[in-house]
Amino acid sequence: MPTTAELRHWDLAHVWHPFTPMLEYADEATPIIVAGDGFDLIDSDGRRYLDGTSSLWCNVHGHRVPELDQALKDQIDRISHSTLLGLANGPSAELARELVSRAPSGLNHVFYSDDGATAVEAALKMAFQYHAHRGADPQQKNLFVSLGDAYHGDTVGAVSLGGIAAFHRIFGSLLFPSLKVPTPGAYRLPPGMSREQYLQHCDETLERSLEEHHDRIAGFVIEPLVQGAAGMLTHPHGYLKRVRELTSRYGIPLIADEVFVGFGRTGTLFACEQESVVPDLLCIAKGLTGGYLPLAATLATDEIYNAFLDVPSAGKTFYHGHTYTGNQLGCAVALASCRLLDSNRVLENVALNQRIMQDWAEHFRDHPHVGDIRQCGVILALELVLDRDRQSPFPADSRIGHQITLAAMQQDVLIRPVGDVLVVMPAPAMPQAVLQRLLSATEHAIRDVLPG
Ligand SMILES: *Cc1c(COP(=O)(O)O)cnc(C)c1O
Repeated sequence: MPTTAELRHWDLAHVWHPFTPMLEYADEATPIIVAGDGFDLIDSDGRRYLDGTSSLWCNVHGHRVPELDQALKDQIDRISHSTLLGLANGPSAELARELVSRAPSGLNHVFYSDDGATAVEAALKMAFQYHAHRGADPQQKNLFVSLGDAYHGDTVGAVSLGGIAAFHRIFGSLLFPSLKVPTPGAYRLPPGMSREQYLQHCDETLERSLEEHHDRIAGFVIEPLVQGAAGMLTHPHGYLKRVRELTSRYGIPLIADEVFVGFGRTGTLFACEQESVVPDLLCIAKGLTGGYLPLAATLATDEIYNAFLDVPSAGKTFYHGHTYTGNQLGCAVALASCRLLDSNRVLENVALNQRIMQDWAEHFRDHPHVGDIRQCGVILALELVLDRDRQSPFPADSRIGHQITLAAMQQDVLIRPVGDVLVVMPAPAMPQAVLQRLLSATEHAIRDVLPG
């Protein structure tokens, strides 16, 4: 095993980290993770850290989970990968059946890919091609609707739907146009508007946009209930159902991006369940394999799927895929993860943890620099502000969220903010005592950096 100094040298010399300002990173000597154990990550010096980000929002059951490890070992002894292009494989068939049985009813067809972004890309192309097969003019029916501050991944199609200025602005000239409707989760409201007026404005804009442009709209893409990368913006109850009503009225496919909220994070297996919504296309990734391997899926209704059925010469094939589509290791561990959700009663655990997090949310409310608290299921976000009454942000170069992350690391806890929004993201299966430690370390870290 190489030494920490060797690993650090190679990392700094050669690894370009995602979403990471590399100049500053080089000075920070962050941990080099070489092992995991339950809800801890272990670095090359043997130091243990609590994984407070669910390894960036994907881990479900913890690390080195015996049932998941065994499923992978068993699968490795059979085969790791074979193509899904024109060929079937065991785990992908078994998993597809499992996913269809757990998803909102009617989503009977599973298209595999590798990441959240690729699941979204597949959905966009399916929706677009679906209209073409039903006789729409592809030059005309090519507009997608998404929400303000949306995040659907980092490939160019997914970025075209995105609305987070800090991530997406630079790529503007590369993107296809999309139609934006205001997010009902906004923390900072337009000047002079009360929250009620703003929500009314969101609803009216939504209705008017669809009414005006439905002839050109190929699909409506939404992160149900919580917009994650935007800083955990939570939608008022009923918004998703309203979007479903309007999209149904105008025959617009609803694409639910549950890449982040899926697999228990909001309290139900899928967020759409909370408003009894069945989308036309459902994108899942992050938690699908319990956080073990990159695997994603786009689930489609019969209505969408059947539009692609014809003789090969009709040109209706979905010419889209990736080399590792339906990877057998990924599917095997996803299947084991689904079963563990039941046998470990993970949703019951989420219900317990949700209450603990609600109590802590009240507690954080007293802090003068906590401007807003957003919570849904086992997702907790604290928006840090310089001045609570004015909702004024800290100067960008103070990187206050990042400072708090460094303070938490001193207490052996890893968290990762989105800008100045602190995010506490326990794995859905995290035991209560571990969660308490995570929340109390977060509080200490905030008080270290911002004594109040
Ligand atoms: C993370 C995320 C994605 C992108 O998933 P990747 O696996 O990182 O490509 C898409 N949509 C949402 C809502 C996400 O949170």
